[in-house]
Amino acid sequence: MFQKILIANRGEIALRIQRACRELGIPTVAVHSTADADAMHVRLADESVCIGPPSARESYLNAASILSAATITGADAIHPGYGFLSENADFAEMVEAHGLAFIGPSPAHIRMMGDKIEAKSAMAALGVPLVPGSDGAVTDLDAARRIAAAIGYPVLVKAAAGGGGRGMKVANDADEIEEAWRTARTEARAAFGNDAVYLEKYLDRPRHVELQVLADGRGQVVHFGERDCSLQRRHQKLVEEAGSPALSAAERDALGARATSALAKLGYRNAGTLEFLYQDGQFAFIEMNTRLQVEHPVTEMVCGIDLVREQIRLAAGQELGYGQSDIRFSGHAIECRVTAEDPETFMPTPGRVTAFHPPGGLGVRVDSALYAGYRVPPHYDSLVAKLIVHAPTRDQAIARLRRALAEFVVVGIKTTLPLHQRIVEDVGFQRGDYTIHWLERFVAGH
Ligand code: ADP
Repeated sequence: MFQKILIANRGEIALRIQRACRELGIPTVAVHSTADADAMHVRLADESVCIGPPSARESYLNAASILSAATITGADAIHPGYGFLSENADFAEMVEAHGLAFIGPSPAHIRMMGDKIEAKSAMAALGVPLVPGSDGAVTDLDAARRIAAAIGYPVLVKAAAGGGGRGMKVANDADEIEEAWRTARTEARAAFGNDAVYLEKYLDRPRHVELQVLADGRGQVVHFGERDCSLQRRHQKLVEEAGSPALSAAERDALGARATSALAKLGYRNAGTLEFLYQDGQFAFIEMNTRLQVEHPVTEMVCGIDLVREQIRLAAGQELGYGQSDIRFSGHAIECRVTAEDPETFMPTPGRVTAFHPPGGLGVRVDSALYAGYRVPPHYDSLVAKLIVHAPTRDQAIARLRRALAEFVVVGIKTTLPLHQRIVEDVGFQRGDYTIHWLERFVAGH
């Protein structure tokens, strides 16, 4: 097992990883920018190292500084969390070249899945169904027109290197394809330094259903069921559930069997999430994330597993020690992502938190790095807390969520808590019959 783990992240996810390390008896090293000197993840770490100025590019994305911090503190493994360097294959390679363990998949798999065109063709070759689309990159406008006409409008132009919903544009008809193609490429070049784009049929009423897997790299792969992440704004998730209100146990089993056998053939290792669109009883793969996801807690609650602990154990070369039939699903879990944003305009609201009172009680979990007196810096992602509830049934989970949201107090900055309170009261949400377009309409209607 590792002697010391450096956590190359900040905020709630840095705390989340510290917690797993502490339970395993492994000391942790926190890294932080100058803007985060007072952050909770620094306060609670065994050791901390300042790795640069506030700008993420010069601190949390600065591979050289992070590797130096690991070397001087004697860490033997790095957990990247999500975001920042977590899906950067070059970084994973550098970590391994320095003789440290990267707590995640192999650099080759990170690279493969980081290119969505390559990811789709790899999955198709392994028998996983895809959203209909172009075979590979679409390099000129004439080809885009031709392929879009063949797929049938509306189509979605997507960046091969895409993430966070960026570099994605819808063309509803032939008049819109030129603009969609150009803006997706421009956005992709600016955000990812790679303007390769491809086309997909734009599905009109899918749900986003994703499957959590763990793999030992020696051919053993298990899944922990699905999460429904259809409640999105601008292609970004706001509320997630496990399991999906739309899926039967038989559908889950069939999807799980297909996905785990594909990953076993790839020789995949550590944690991963396969993302699908689900419409009319059909699953279609869109991408794979080669890291821990923000929404992993809902899976932990229904499966009673610590996914970060498993990631660490697997990276240290331990065996899974259980098979698919050992994994049981119990009850229902829902997560709300609470961000430092105005709940009406979604403008970021950094600033000082004067009071913080998280909810508690049976079946309530809050993953957050907030505390009273903390100043939310303007430089990073606006996620400040995740509220997760777990109960025997979905209806009971909704009742618990309503109760927990009413207890949750954050004073000093505006947050999206009032938006979550409105969502939980909505009968459409309560019935669970929503698609990926539901939340945009809900927000627009208020
Ligand atoms: P990113 O990596 O930027 O998050 P994804 O490929 O995961 O991009 O897609 C993000 C979201 O965009 C999906 O969850 C879904 O809501 C929407 N989306 C993606 N592809 C399609 C599609 N072909 N049709 C309709 N919606 C889509």
